This record gives sequence, structure tokens and C-alpha cells, in this order.
Amino acid sequence: MVRSSVLGYPRIGENREWKKALEAFWSGRIEEHEFQQQMQDIRLGHLRKQQEKGVDFIPVNDFSYYDHVLDTAAMFGIVPERFSYQGGAVPLSVYYGIARGTQDAAASEMTKWFNTNYHYIVPELNGTSPLLTENKPLIAYREAKEKLGIEGKPVILGPLTFLKLSKGYNPSEIDSWLNRLLPLYVRVLQELSAEGAQWVQVDEPILVTKLDEDDLTRLKRIYETLTASAPNLNVMLQTYFESLEHYSDIVALPVQGIGLDFVHGYAGNMKALQVHGFPTGKILGAGIIDGRSIWKASLHDKKAIIDEISRYVSEDSLIIQSSCSLLHVPVTVDHEAKLGSHLKNALAFADEKLDELVLLTKAASADSDTLTSEHMDRSQQAHKAIQLSDERNRADIHQAVKGILKQPLVRSLPFSERHAIQRDTWQLPFLPTTTIGSFPQTAEVRKARLLWRKGEWSPDRYNHFIREQIGEWIREQEDIGLDVLVHGEFERTDMVEFFGEKLEGFAFTQNGWVQSYGSRCVKPPIIYGDVAFTESMTVEETRYAQSLTQRPVKGMLTGPITIMNWSFTREDLPREQIAYQLAYALRQEVEALERSGIGMIQVDEPAVREGLPLKEKDQAEYLTWAVKAFRMTTCTVQPSTQIHTHMCYCEFHDMMNSIESMDADVISIESSRSHGELIHSFESNTYPLGIGLGVYDIHSPRVPAVEEMTSMIDRALRVLDPGLFWINPDCGLKTRGAGETIASLRNMVAATKFARVHH
Ligand code: GLN
Ligand code: ZN
Repeated sequence: MVRSSVLGYPRIGENREWKKALEAFWSGRIEEHEFQQQMQDIRLGHLRKQQEKGVDFIPVNDFSYYDHVLDTAAMFGIVPERFSYQGGAVPLSVYYGIARGTQDAAASEMTKWFNTNYHYIVPELNGTSPLLTENKPLIAYREAKEKLGIEGKPVILGPLTFLKLSKGYNPSEIDSWLNRLLPLYVRVLQELSAEGAQWVQVDEPILVTKLDEDDLTRLKRIYETLTASAPNLNVMLQTYFESLEHYSDIVALPVQGIGLDFVHGYAGNMKALQVHGFPTGKILGAGIIDGRSIWKASLHDKKAIIDEISRYVSEDSLIIQSSCSLLHVPVTVDHEAKLGSHLKNALAFADEKLDELVLLTKAASADSDTLTSEHMDRSQQAHKAIQLSDERNRADIHQAVKGILKQPLVRSLPFSERHAIQRDTWQLPFLPTTTIGSFPQTAEVRKARLLWRKGEWSPDRYNHFIREQIGEWIREQEDIGLDVLVHGEFERTDMVEFFGEKLEGFAFTQNGWVQSYGSRCVKPPIIYGDVAFTESMTVEETRYAQSLTQRPVKGMLTGPITIMNWSFTREDLPREQIAYQLAYALRQEVEALERSGIGMIQVDEPAVREGLPLKEKDQAEYLTWAVKAFRMTTCTVQPSTQIHTHMCYCEFHDMMNSIESMDADVISIESSRSHGELIHSFESNTYPLGIGLGVYDIHSPRVPAVEEMTSMIDRALRVLDPGLFWINPDCGLKTRGAGETIASLRNMVAATKFARVHH
């Protein structure tokens, strides 16, 4: 019999109960024991749901109090020295200290989980001595069994991936760290086995990237050791997000099951399966239901894939799975009352995907019945209906984009000439200061928006309120002494949603949240149709802000690639084309801003990196069209108009050329959270355009001292041309409080003044 399995379930709850509990605990509104109780209720609710739907292998220990990579580090006692940790189970105060920083110690770095918008906390190995502080998977396994009678499948992050994602060690030391970690993994697995666990899912997504011979040897050692020390426990070696790089080596590892992604790694994995077959006696976990898409699957196509796979694997050896954890999709379509029916019918979030999984598993079994095939047909129809809708077939947009693509997409003058013109136009001081765009979205701001959305406040009243905020913060910025000001983005909930609401082709869910980092959730819009500009989106607020000050106010837009990467997108059009449609729409906004007298325009592209394909061979193509979309957005302005861009959470070393060819007059980049490591990317490469490296971390409420920022500036100026250097925080300040924001920016300006004198 074919069986079904889920790789992980969203943590946040149907109504973001998880986020609310975390934040209540952090702010001291609830005590630890109440918090623990709430966490358990949420966790058990998720398990119960999967149980009721009839999933065969239900994951446990996929739940987390913040992030599963941090959990793994904490389980092994890997706590950076700057946090006072006394040994034993890591207390929540330390756990959240690592994640969010404390007044005395900076948070650990946070970075994107492979090519997703989920962020994990980077473990810092230096100075730590790994030990098993508590067996988290075991606790989760017991809980599911005792409370719900579920024979759970513990999920654990595999040793190789854990080490590769960690920092604080020299690559040559990897084996000595492995020597320390492996016995701890062995104990975790042995204890699980002793408790009666049948399967453990060991996640090794790093296996979809290129590995060298040493890594392959390491893998062999890891999995020989693990399986030999817990002979009664079945290990599902789980990969996702792409196809395996070293298929034959990996399927030959001495584990009981191999989990492969047949959605995002379809081409590579299917080909490998066809060429090399699959070892008899092993279980294949086939990732068939897309864990990263919100659309219903075309079940007949999925069934055909399963049929093909079944040529190589017997029914009893086949498990139908989600392609990855369902963490990346919202919880349920159920409560979405406001979506049009052809759209709503075409959607499947986590819970609906559980149904699809179970349905497909039935269909794949020999005793599949007619009811199953009726369900399949219905789902298939929904999938077709949206394809044929008018919104997806707009000739005007397709024509316009085609026409623009025939143009050269370059600024009228090269940077060196623009730079001279802009220097004369703007007359900025040496080392100009600015911010990234947003100022605190206080409770007051959020409440005002809610009242307006509910209709309790008239649009006039709301606009008046927004103008007051803009006014206050323009005065504040002048007072702090910043050179290039921003209006503060108070009217925006979110940098993507705001634009999506004003463009055509987008739809919005009421509750389609997904976790981005920690308690922070995002509600990605759905790009379901062709994208079109209808009216200006940012001109009013920006122009108002500019009317209040003599200093330049930067207009603030989200770029095409970021809008695309932070939205759920349609699957019937290549991503490249979606990006161009967005670029065409945003370019009309850039032109509108310029016409209204705004001469500095920032087009944020923080999400370029995460769209980068995991396989090297696919990267150049993506970067080429991503850069093209940015240039399409920005190339029509006057030479005196200064185009800024901004990126964060980013490793840049392998995309410096692309960043340069975006040809933005100024780029601001997050760098202080990586404790200055980013500067290496610029050392060997003299970046020829304007650049601001973030001088302080905005993810933490901590107010950095002037000297800290001075040293960041010094380091940067050692490698970058001071004449092109800007000073700014890492990112927008919307998640910060007003007090800490003002204090930090004052220190930043003080550090700048010091640097102006000393360079
Ligand atoms: N302009 C945005 C802001 O300041 C940029 C946010 C981002 O890079 N993620 O909030
Ligand atoms: Zn940013």
C-alpha cells in the first residue's frame, strides 16, 4: 500500500496564535508556564488535524519556539559565549537572546533558508562545546503518542546541513566538529529508538547543492554511524528544494528511505531515477505536492508522475509526500470569504494540501475507487477555470511589455557623468546619511489603519493622520541631522501588499500568513492575473513630505523582483514575464514620482538573492532577467535623478557583477548583522557606484554605541571609495520603537560627524 507523509506543518496557527503567544511572552504579558501551555495547545491542534485528515506519517519536532536551526543548536548546547549560559537545557531567556539580541549581547546572524523567504538563526560554533542538553525530538514524539496516540515521525536537521549552515569555524575543522556532533546525534536516535519510534526524518537539504568528495565521504560516515547505532529505527534521509546533485552516491547510503523533491527538483530527480533506478529494499519518499505553492495541484498530472515513479519502486516502498515542509504556505483557505470563486476554488494551502496528499495516495493505490477519481476531476476543473480567465489573458499588457523589451533599457548617461551632475544638483555633504525608508509602525499607526479599514475612520481622517505622522518624522529627521529624508512608509502595512493592492492582477487573502523570521509573518499577495498600473501609488505622500522640508526626500518603491519573490505567483506564465509586467507597472510609478518633483527614488530589491536558483547552472539566466527588470523599472529618468536601491539578508560575493549592472546610483546594503563579514565581498571588487553599508543592526531593540558605528564606518572606508560612501542603518525601522530609533540614528549621525573629520 502506498502511504502519505508530511515533512512539516506551519507553526503559526490558523489565526497566528503562535505569533501572538510569542509576542505576549516577550512583552511580559504572559508567564512562561502559560506560554508553554499555549504552545502545547497549538502544537497538538496541528497534530490532530493531520491525524483527522488521515496522513500516515505525521511529523513531530517540526514545531519550534522560533526557528528549527536555532532549536538544533540549542539542543546541542551551542550557545555563543556572549550569552550567559550555564549548561543544561537552554532557558527561553537565552534562546530568545540568541535570536533577538539582549541589551548586552548582539543577536546571532539571521539568514535565508535556502531559496525561501524563511530565515534561520546561524549557529556560531566557535568557543562552544557541544553536548546534548535535551532530546527535543524525543519529547515531541512522546507528547504526540501520549496525548493523541499518534505514532509520530520526529524531524531533525541532519549533521551535514547543520554544519554547513553554521559559522565560527574554519572549513578545515569540519571533521573535528562532526566528531563532536555525531555522538550527540547517535544518542538522540538511540533514545528515540528505545522509546519505540519507527521512523525519523533527517533533513539534509544541503544534498541538493554541489558537494565535494570529502563531503560524500563524510555523508557515508554519518549515515553508517547513525543507522548502525540505532538499527531498529528507520532513517528517512530527506532532501528538498531541488534535485540531488549526487544521486547515485546518495541513494546508495545505508539509510532505509530517501526523500526526493519531485516538484522543484522534478527534472533532475526524475531523470536520475530513470537512468539509475532506485535501490530495492529502500523506501522512496516522493515529494509530489508542492510545499511552496498555493495552487491546487493538477492531480491528473501528479498521478501521471506517480505512475512513472511506480515503474521503479513498488507500492509498498512508495510514500507520497509534500515536496518540503508546509511551513512555506498559509494554513487554510477555509476562512477566505472575500476571494472570487474561480480564484478561491483554485487554491490549496497547507490543510487543503493534506487532502490532496491523502487523495493522491488513495489514487496511487491498487484499490482506488470512483469517488477518488471524481474528486480528482473536480480539482482538475478548478485548475483549468482560472487559466482561461480574462485576467490572465490581457493583450494590452502582453503587447506593451513586448515593445519595451525591444528597447535598450539603459540610463541616458553612464554613472560617471550622472554622478557629476547629481553632485551639483544635490550638494550633499561628504558621507551623506539616510535611512532605508520606514519609520516605526507603532501601535497607534496600526490602529489607525485598522479603524480606517473597518470604515470607522473616513479616508480623510486617516489621510490626515498619516500626514501628521509624516510631518512629525520629517521634523524628527531634520532634528537628528539626516541628509536625505524619507516619508516613513506609515501608510504601508507591508512593502509588497501596499503595491499589490494598487496594481491590477493581484488578489489578497485575509489570513494567508506565512512565517518569515521568528514571530514575524508575511501575507504574500497572490499574483493571479496580468499585472497592470492604474494610478500613482506613492506620489501623494512623498510629495507631501517633500513640501515640508528643504532637504531631499527619497521616494520609496518596492522593486519588481522583490514583489514577485514575496508574492505567490501564477504558474502558467514564466517568472521572467511576471517580472517584466511588474517592471513595466513600476516604471510608470517612477516616472510619476519624477514628474511630481521627486529627484531621488529608491527601488528596494531585498529579495533578489532568495530567488537565485540553487543550482549554479541556472543562476546566470535568472540574474540576467532580474537585472533587466530592475533596469526596465528605472532607466527612463533624467541623469540628475538619483536612483537608489536597497538589499538585505544577502550574501553578495557571487552576485557582485549583477548588482553592478543594475546601475543604481546608490545601493544600501545590510551588513552589520553579519558583523562586517560582508565587506569581504567588496574587497576584491572595487564597486564603482554609490554605496551605503548598514552601520547598525535594526533587528534588535538595542541602541548601538557611537564607537561601534565608527568602527563599522572605518572598516568600510578601508575598502570603499569614501567619495561614493553613504551612511545608513541596515534596513527599514518599521519594527522598532520610536525611542530606540531616534537614539540609534542620533548615534549614527554622531559617528558620521566623527568620520567626516577623521577621513
Ligand atoms: N523601504 C523598506 C523599509 O524601509 C525596505 C525594507 C526591506 O528591505 N526589507 O522598510
Ligand atoms: Zn532591508
